[in-house]
Amino acid sequence: MLNRAIEMQPEIAAWRRELHMNPELQFDTHWTSAFVAEKLKAFGCDEVVTGIGRTGVVGIIKGRSDGGTVIGLRADMDALPMTEVTGLPHASKTPGRMHACGHDGHTAMLLGAARHLCETRNFHGRVAVIFQPAEEGGGGGHEMVLDGMMERFGIGSVYGLHNEPGSAVGSFAIRPGPIMASVDTFAITVTGVGGHAAMPHLTIDPIFIGAQIVSALQGIASRNTDPLESLVITVTQFHAGDAINVIAPTARLIGTTRTLKAPVRAMAEKRIRETAHGIATALGGSVEIDYALSKGYPVTVNHPRETQLALGIAREVAGERNVDADTPPIMGGEDFAFMLESRPGAFIFMGNGDTAYCHHPAYDFNDEAIPYGVSYWVTLAETLLKDKTA
Ligand SMILES: [Zn+2]
Ligand SMILES: [Zn+2]
Repeated sequence: MLNRAIEMQPEIAAWRRELHMNPELQFDTHWTSAFVAEKLKAFGCDEVVTGIGRTGVVGIIKGRSDGGTVIGLRADMDALPMTEVTGLPHASKTPGRMHACGHDGHTAMLLGAARHLCETRNFHGRVAVIFQPAEEGGGGGHEMVLDGMMERFGIGSVYGLHNEPGSAVGSFAIRPGPIMASVDTFAITVTGVGGHAAMPHLTIDPIFIGAQIVSALQGIASRNTDPLESLVITVTQFHAGDAINVIAPTARLIGTTRTLKAPVRAMAEKRIRETAHGIATALGGSVEIDYALSKGYPVTVNHPRETQLALGIAREVAGERNVDADTPPIMGGEDFAFMLESRPGAFIFMGNGDTAYCHHPAYDFNDEAIPYGVSYWVTLAETLLKDKTA
């Protein structure tokens, strides 16, 4: 399969670059979704459904014999709200928007696999190619699941892939169990009593209270969490005050938590609430906590059986020594987690070579990696759907 994918590479790279030039954010992937749907129809997909989870697209490809198993292969389509500095000929045409996570590459590779599967149909059952919006916040994968995608198409298992800068092109990395972190976003509004900066005893200073909260939150990871577990609590914003000589009445803190296990995730929320309330009360103020400021992503947990299958495919495509079967988890989040909560499956990393890291303004998806991603998808589908009764 790799040779065929190498033949297809220039055309898929051209799609990738066209997608790269036209980045769209969150659920506003209207042009991208139309691009995908048009290609899937042209390839001869048996069914192309748009508007799933708002702007998601699903293409159904029937094998030589229909009926039986349906597997879902998923790519993400959205870009990030940042300005590209690569200066490449195919750089973003829109300032303030950029494909800085390689979702252009993910979409193009899955399109390439879909074309090959439509042409050859060398499998039994069905392949559902899933293109989701709003991975970078917004929870587009969740919306597609809530929209009934799994039931509607009878999808039995799901597989996802993400490029990984810093790992060699032609390499893969996976692990059973947690592979990416849960992501929650919280906002803490501290209310005190404002007043003259020179008369603090007549006020209740929310900046003083907020500062104690920021410090104390660090104790949740170091004092409440088993040292062998993973928890990150980062306060990313602290807004208060407008004048030099006025103590403001309120302060607002915003932060994010990352964990690799549901019980740690629940503990972090409980302790953040208790800590913020306790400190504010002790210092005479009060807090209001919004623990779901943006859509929280669960831990991305790879299922053991499907991980083993994916591992075998990666080894077949890339060679045994180019596949890491026990890669450490990454504390970033991934909304494929929702699909893995709904169906068994596995998420794998694919080497992007020595490029800038994801979300960096100099990042670019590596087109040299395209044949490996396409081969992975096609080989996975043909292997899992080899037998009529699978
Ligand atoms: Zn990203
Ligand atoms: Zn990404």
